Amino acid sequence: MEKSIIYADNNATTCVAPEVLEAMKPFFGPEYFNPSSMYPSAGNVSREIKLAREKIAGFFNADLENEILFTSCATESNNHVIFGAAAANPSRKQIITTAVEHPAVLEVCREMERRGYRVTYLPVDRQGRLSKADLVRALEPGNTLLVSIMHANNETGVRFPIQDLARITKETDPEILFHTDATQTVTKLPFSLSKHGPKNLLSADFRNVDLLSCSGHKFHGPKGVGLLYIRRGTPIRPFLIGGHQEGGRRGGTENVPYVVGIATALEIAFRTHFEDYAKLRGIQTYFEQELKTRISDIEINGEETERMPNTTNVSCHFVEGESILYELSEYGICASSGSACTSGSLEPSHVLRAMKVPFTAIHGSTRFSFSRYNSQEEVDRILDIFPEIIARLRAASPFSRENRH
Ligand code: PLP
Repeated sequence: MEKSIIYADNNATTCVAPEVLEAMKPFFGPEYFNPSSMYPSAGNVSREIKLAREKIAGFFNADLENEILFTSCATESNNHVIFGAAAANPSRKQIITTAVEHPAVLEVCREMERRGYRVTYLPVDRQGRLSKADLVRALEPGNTLLVSIMHANNETGVRFPIQDLARITKETDPEILFHTDATQTVTKLPFSLSKHGPKNLLSADFRNVDLLSCSGHKFHGPKGVGLLYIRRGTPIRPFLIGGHQEGGRRGGTENVPYVVGIATALEIAFRTHFEDYAKLRGIQTYFEQELKTRISDIEINGEETERMPNTTNVSCHFVEGESILYELSEYGICASSGSACTSGSLEPSHVLRAMKVPFTAIHGSTRFSFSRYNSQEEVDRILDIFPEIIARLRAASPFSRENRH
């Protein structure tokens, strides 16, 4: 019999909501037409895409539905932003980003360095915070092409004040493009992209954000579909060049089932958005308090700053992250050490290194990330098992206090 799983790795990916799967099904079956074809059956499919785009523009409070582009994932959206911005603005040669971005931004920036661009990587402090003064110092009016700063970090959940950072950028030079990778925050933190400002006080005002990326599989949609918001008038060249789809900004026949899937996932998430936030914040407060009570020598990374409600990144001194994950998986608990994309290597996470997490703790870091589908019982089960694992591994560790002579 298969053992039951406790899935606490929702920053890596999420399960597809059953309603999303149902909404997608007809487009694998009778509604298979190419939305660009001229006959009426294809027209129905193309109307579904239009509807999905309108809904998403509404959820983001964008001014125009065609500011929303469907892509294959956040990685593609981020590549589109950086390469497309450079192609459209060849006289500007500096890019500003942070030391803690996802590889889908960082590695593209490294490629831009190979192509002759200068990239400034803003540092973070011990809590994972950025300094606004560092951004001000780094901006070069007339030469900065793009500022790309994530909305929240995938490893620690630490949030960045995008509203302020985008405003500072535009006040310095309105021609500098501002991009945020919102892959970990869409459906979790409310924001408004309208140039007229938010409709309510709860949404962050992203009127100075030109470009925003995200990925469907982080909010119970399917893998293989992402979004790119491009504010009207933003100078940017296409990344995938081909047919006239997406208003000529991204070639390739539309992935109709996935487009319907991502729109449905957003619709469902926005319905329970505030409830989910409160539930996850409650779980996080309880979980972290209990961890600190039950385990000595731990650090909750980013604890003293604003963080996502669903992410706990805990460093346990004197143990090794890979062994923790292995032991957790023996109990059916899925978590992650470092980011999902780098956990195949034993290199300590670039995010925790940038935060200067001490050597004895950086290797023993585990990320638990919850979703609306997690229950209190699951959290309690992790709290029963995790401290026991840490105690066992410490007993065998040559670095632990007890074993050092
Ligand atoms: N950006 C961030 C902040 C992420 O967390 C991820 C995935 O973990 C990505 C980009 C890449 O997403 P995808 O693999 O869907 O392209």
